[in-house]
Amino acid sequence: MKLISSDPLDRNRFPLDEWSLIESDFAAEDMGRTETLFAVANGYMGIRGNVDEGRDGHMHGTFVNGFHETWPIRHAEEAFGFATVGQTIVNVPDAKIIRLYVDDEPLVLTEADLLTYERKLDFSTGVLSRSLEWRTPSGKRVLIRSRRMVSFTDRHLAILEYDVTLLDADASVVISSQILNRQDGIDEYDAPNPRAGAKGFDPRKAESFTDRVLRPRFQRAGDGRYILGYRTTNSSMTIAVAADHSIETDNEYTETPQVGEDLAKHVYRVRAKAGQPIKVTKVLSYHTSRSVPTRELADRCDRTLDRAREEGLDSFFQRQREWLDDYWARTDVVVKGQPILQQAIRWNLFQLAQATARADGSGIAAKGVTGSGYGGHYFWDTEIYVLPFLTYTSPNAARNALRFRHSMLDQARSRAVELNQRGALFPWRTISGLESSAYYAAGTAQYHIDADIAFALRQYISATGDDDFLAREAIDIFVETARMWADLGFWRANGHEVFHIHGVTGPDEYTTVVNDNLYTNVMARSNLRAAVRLTRQLQTENPQAYERMVDRLSLKEGEVDEWGRAAEGMHIPFDKGLQIHPQDAQFLERERWDLTQTPPENRPLLLHYHPLVIYRFQVLKQADVVLALLLQGDEFSAIEKRADFDYYDPLTTGDSTLSAVVQSIIAAEVGYHLLALKYFTSGLFVDLADLHNNTADGVHVASTGGVWSALAYGFGGMRDYYGKIELDPRLPEGWEELTFRITLKGTRLRIDIRQDELDVTVEDGTEATIFVRGTSVTVRNGLPSTVPLTHQGIRDPGAPRGEDIEGELRADGTVITSSIPTFAAHRYEAEAETTS
Ligand code: BGC
Repeated sequence: MKLISSDPLDRNRFPLDEWSLIESDFAAEDMGRTETLFAVANGYMGIRGNVDEGRDGHMHGTFVNGFHETWPIRHAEEAFGFATVGQTIVNVPDAKIIRLYVDDEPLVLTEADLLTYERKLDFSTGVLSRSLEWRTPSGKRVLIRSRRMVSFTDRHLAILEYDVTLLDADASVVISSQILNRQDGIDEYDAPNPRAGAKGFDPRKAESFTDRVLRPRFQRAGDGRYILGYRTTNSSMTIAVAADHSIETDNEYTETPQVGEDLAKHVYRVRAKAGQPIKVTKVLSYHTSRSVPTRELADRCDRTLDRAREEGLDSFFQRQREWLDDYWARTDVVVKGQPILQQAIRWNLFQLAQATARADGSGIAAKGVTGSGYGGHYFWDTEIYVLPFLTYTSPNAARNALRFRHSMLDQARSRAVELNQRGALFPWRTISGLESSAYYAAGTAQYHIDADIAFALRQYISATGDDDFLAREAIDIFVETARMWADLGFWRANGHEVFHIHGVTGPDEYTTVVNDNLYTNVMARSNLRAAVRLTRQLQTENPQAYERMVDRLSLKEGEVDEWGRAAEGMHIPFDKGLQIHPQDAQFLERERWDLTQTPPENRPLLLHYHPLVIYRFQVLKQADVVLALLLQGDEFSAIEKRADFDYYDPLTTGDSTLSAVVQSIIAAEVGYHLLALKYFTSGLFVDLADLHNNTADGVHVASTGGVWSALAYGFGGMRDYYGKIELDPRLPEGWEELTFRITLKGTRLRIDIRQDELDVTVEDGTEATIFVRGTSVTVRNGLPSTVPLTHQGIRDPGAPRGEDIEGELRADGTVITSSIPTFAAHRYEAEAETTS
């Protein structure tokens, strides 16, 4: 993993701005990356930051959350229970294209003579804008300004504006607005850009379709409006895409419509006079469904577009801004005096809005709706990486994500039966609710998905007090997942009875199908305990709901006690010699992989070594035990945490972007403050600096959630054991102040942490109680509390602290560089050092 110690962005190209991402130079080389970085999305639909004019691009992409095609997974060697239905997000018809011709010369950005260029994604307005001056081959200067917005308030709506002004001469201008049904991103209408990155072998990319996916079902054109409807070949999902056009100009013009099955065009021919602007506005609507006929979806598009016409587009831009004002009031994290970090933090938080805001009844995909990486699938990324952020800042979105899991419960029950278990087994990766992981060892075997979902549910319920949701729906998940664990594990007597879980894979996908994976066992224990506790609680507090649940789930006498026994008898592997928790029962018997001897060109390991080679060694793709230290931190002593971190850190490749943020949090806790900061910045710039070379496939949403966690849990030192919020801050040296917000049972608190004290203020609501280094602090509206941070943290009494130890020497003898990462605004040199 690259550890970042100073600004990794070229500031000549990406000038610094704390509230936006700006690109001031067009570059063809990394269009895949910038298409992702400049995507606009609302959680329901997403439009990649492709150039308006089509053609040039790494991958033209528009995605609708959950809109997917299915295909039969053909295993070379079949076995019972293998996943059979592949699911892949569909790149839907591209309605954002607005091609421009001046005197019949097309504007092709990669070839054009651009006199000026700037593109800006504004985090406060939610609008992507671009402005450029083009010198045509015949020497005429043309100013082109465009804006693009995917509405947070109206999830089916997007607005495009395209403004053209001839600056010094008259010309004939053609503006051809299109809806194009490409299959798979590129077709004969586009010029694939050979410099934008080739598609090589990479299991993290989506499968490509060879047959037609979208079958035309419906076309309509009239009055500047076009609607195309399609049904997917196998999954039978339906989609309608619509565009409305209007033009404002004093120039003379004509307009011609054209509609076909895979292409609709509205062409303006303008006799443009110098200095007389032409403004074309295109309003888009996408509606999708699992089965509704396309004709009905077309009506829905009509209604969305009619409303936009009636209400006027300014009101949508205004609402977008208001939505974001509210979003930032709930979520903003401020690191005072660190503009480089600040911009990157806001970009990450903005991506969380873009991935989740209007996911509504759908899941949150690993790439949100910004790309096709991982096939548009939902993973545990949602529960462990994104939900903490949502639960504490946007509880309604958290509830939606959890209700979505609840909607999959029946399929999870069937899957458990298929795998010989009781209860429910959620799919490791899915869109439709069916397991879609073709490679079971690093897929289905990750039974911990059940515990991850239960973890997020419990966290949500204790942070919000949403007992109604617990009583009506969530309790079913606790019961069914507890049943699964109680059934999957078994008792083995070795002096005394111990509960074991065998044949599972933990979070680290470089070690698979093992016995007693520590993460799985501690998370399963917590899942079982939560099920016991919440079932009992329901029984006493809401007996009627309890009875209904008992009926609904046929809960038997004695089942709850059985879960309790399994939890308390759970085997937690510990090695007395090394004084660490082995990742699993056999882990320490394997040979250690020496990462210092692995050439950088062989990373990530998964692209260079057969799984069997990797599985033979002690080597980690991502935090596993170390993640357990975070999520179940009250189960481990400070000394154990330090020893575990020291053992696993040098073995962790960080080949998954889910790793750095977790390593940052635990490094901060155990006292490695410099390392914590470096891991944090490696998470922060995962996409902005394309640290894993696959940002082109879409935003790494789990990492963006992890960035929030690294700030709140890592440097803020927040922990939330059973609804009790504790703060034990670890502010990096050189940071003046860190501010973040959390909402607890409807009360929003602002926490400002400085080196020697912190303030807690109620920003909205009435009062809340939190604990600062063991001391209870109750804050009420209007009365900020200041708490001194003089005494040592509660989580490490007697443990060595980073501040107390000489340098930072890791267990394997490697020294962590002693220079403090520099992000001062005046230091722009990009310097990325490769470690481990
Ligand atoms: C990670 C998984 C993760 C998936 C999707 C993989 O590389 O190993 O933990 O769920 O990516 O983000």
